[in-house]
Amino acid sequence: MKLSSPRGTADIYGEDIDYRNFIINTARKIFEIFNYSEIITPAFEYTQVFSRSIGEGTDIVQKEMYTFMDRKGRSLTLRPEGTASIVRAVIENKIYSENMPLKLFYIGNMFRYERPQKGRMREFWQLGIESIGTDNPVIDAEVIWILNSFFKKLGFKKLILLVNSMGCSRCREKFLAEFKKYIKPELGKLCSDCQNRFEKNPLRVFDCKKNSCRSILDSSPEVSSYLCSECKENFKEVLECLKILKIKYRTDKNLVRGFDYYTKTIFEIISEDLYSAQNALGGGGRYDNLINQLGGPELPATGFAVGIDRTMMLMKQLNLKFTKLARKSRVYLIAMNKNCQIYSLDILKYLREMEVICDINFNNKNLKKEIKWAKDNNYDFIIIIGEDEINSGSLTIKDIKKFKQYKVDWKNQKDKIIEIIGANDYD
Ligand SMILES: [Zn+2]
Ligand SMILES: [Zn+2]
Repeated sequence: MKLSSPRGTADIYGEDIDYRNFIINTARKIFEIFNYSEIITPAFEYTQVFSRSIGEGTDIVQKEMYTFMDRKGRSLTLRPEGTASIVRAVIENKIYSENMPLKLFYIGNMFRYERPQKGRMREFWQLGIESIGTDNPVIDAEVIWILNSFFKKLGFKKLILLVNSMGCSRCREKFLAEFKKYIKPELGKLCSDCQNRFEKNPLRVFDCKKNSCRSILDSSPEVSSYLCSECKENFKEVLECLKILKIKYRTDKNLVRGFDYYTKTIFEIISEDLYSAQNALGGGGRYDNLINQLGGPELPATGFAVGIDRTMMLMKQLNLKFTKLARKSRVYLIAMNKNCQIYSLDILKYLREMEVICDINFNNKNLKKEIKWAKDNNYDFIIIIGEDEINSGSLTIKDIKKFKQYKVDWKNQKDKIIEIIGANDYD
């Protein structure tokens, strides 16, 4: 049997690793500036962690979770998103900071059983942040600010933030009553999925992408019209902060995100350079009741998540280039035979101790082929070691990008190698 990776999974290597590292390093740098620290949680949890937080009626819990019984008959699920696990971890380990908010970030693989398509895999990678412990609107703005800075740093342009308020549980109740009243007579016109959703969890109808359903939703009552005075004031303050930060936003009354736990300000960032309906880069929102709902104290919180694979795909689509961090010169040693290879070990040892990126030919191909290989693989210098070099004790360093050549007395002038290599700053 020919072995292959399971449907909806991918091997990541080569240039994609460079993209990925650029995305992750950029995120880490920004998270650090905003005083976030990393948290790592397990890739699987007891199923309840997700069903009780994301919501029984959501598509994720209904259809998309990888749930299985372990050998003792316990129901486990591969995490479909990051927030629920982090909330579980915060409660379990009592990571309640004296000085709220608790600012956490994560990078990890997530799993959803969906029909795989470009940019949407069954195993996918996400990075995100959670800010736990305050409902201060300044923190909503800060979380959005981080998301915005991140995409700007990656090179995305024409960024627009879509924001909406889902209100608190009090205003949500009022809205739901009106919404149900509106949908009931239209129920027959909704797709069967939506009819199901409406029974279990009316808000989930907003997840539908079908035009027939969208057109009914277009004229439906909106959450934002039912905000209580406290929620209204809170949303206004978030928008004021965004203005001060000069973050371009658009309030979008149809913005409703796919998890049940969201309250108050939710958001999505889009790039107008991406024309499809799938132009969302990332998003998130406030979840003030989730921690309490999962057995923790009453702690309001907010956060966002970004798909790493998707971001990578969009960067390529828009031809955004990544920069490698602090590119150092690379040196390739070419030993002419086995004896030369053993002699070269001493040189390799020295270079690596000096933190020079270097390698040696392990198969003896002919010199021409080796030099071509070094060029193709982005090396800057080659050092050829033959019997002559061993006998004379000197080395010839060739700069294969600038076509220069240097001679160095290996035994007595080691430092000179570093001088030559270090003097060239490639980027
Ligand atoms: Zn409210
Ligand atoms: Zn529908």
